Amino acid sequence: MDELPLRDELRGKSPYGAPQLDVPVRLNTNENPYPLPEPLVARIAEKVADAARALNRYPDRDALELRAGLAHYLTRTTGHPVDRAQVWAANGSNEVLQQLLQAFGGPGRTAIGFEPSYSMHALIARGTGTGWISGPRRADFTIDTEAAVRAIGEQRPDVVFVCSPNNPTGTAVDADTVLALYDAAQAAKPGGAMVVVDEAYGEFSHGPSLLPLIEGRPRLVVSRTMSKAFGAAGLRLGYLAAAPAVVDAVQLVRLPYHLSAVTQATALAALEFTDTLLGYVEQLKSERDRLVAELRAAGCEVTASDANFVQFGRFTDAHEFWQRLLDEGVLVRDNGVPGWLRVSTGTPAENDAFLDAVRKLKKETA
Ligand code: PMP
Repeated sequence: MDELPLRDELRGKSPYGAPQLDVPVRLNTNENPYPLPEPLVARIAEKVADAARALNRYPDRDALELRAGLAHYLTRTTGHPVDRAQVWAANGSNEVLQQLLQAFGGPGRTAIGFEPSYSMHALIARGTGTGWISGPRRADFTIDTEAAVRAIGEQRPDVVFVCSPNNPTGTAVDADTVLALYDAAQAAKPGGAMVVVDEAYGEFSHGPSLLPLIEGRPRLVVSRTMSKAFGAAGLRLGYLAAAPAVVDAVQLVRLPYHLSAVTQATALAALEFTDTLLGYVEQLKSERDRLVAELRAAGCEVTASDANFVQFGRFTDAHEFWQRLLDEGVLVRDNGVPGWLRVSTGTPAENDAFLDAVRKLKKETA
């Protein structure tokens, strides 16, 4: 690459890359461990066959039926009425976030996130030419509202990312904190700033969604995904809810026909199986709570989790413990948070295998 006229800010950088290793227990990318149920697989085949008959045509550019389905899902599960004009969909919530930064960030503008948080926020900022500001978090990984408000006041970002539940720590953010950050961001920036609440793991939270906060707040966006709760990471379907003007704004930067007819048909089929899929979410939530309890019983420190993964530690050398778990056939994630690792909730059998490995390794080091 050195001989290519690459943009300066990309020189020497590495692409996002969680290892995709072939090991017996893979708990490193916060996927849903349950494959889609067979009746849904059959329904997808049916709907994709219908879509295939019209593949000579471009897909519905505005994904109207899908956006209506997602709006219905959000209304039903959050209790807050959302309509189609408030929803936008793209290829994974990563693309939604990229479109938001293309529209509201970009050269000469900045975005702030409170780290450690989802590393793609900073990477998408870089890719869109948006300056990145690393905001503070407390040692217990909660957001210190006062410190965050101060950082926003000093840095005057154009976009504020709030990840709740936060990846990789599992920490949920309460509504009062989001409101304080929203008000601070508007006060700091003449013309206002966007606040993006990344709720990729929203369905796994013990508490309610932050989505109702979009009401009366034209610059608040909540992003969601079918990659986690819907068990459809391979589908690549993310979406947002916000004021209709935000949806109009991202349409200025989206590629025409960005969401394929196959994707739209598959996502619509998945929505028909919402109840079954949310049943798996309930099982995963109780397995997540079990992981927290058993890791603590095994002598680990654990960060309270509202997501489908758990941050555990503390290790003098987290990467060494990661390697030893891998040697036991269990792949977890080293996000580079000093002293901590992250494990995704798997099936009960996968979680047992992980816990057995942790207990064994802890005993060896005791
Ligand atoms: N936000 C967060 C916090 C995530 O952890 C992820 C996936 N790891 C995403 C967004 C993106 O997910 P996707 O593009 O699959 O919707």
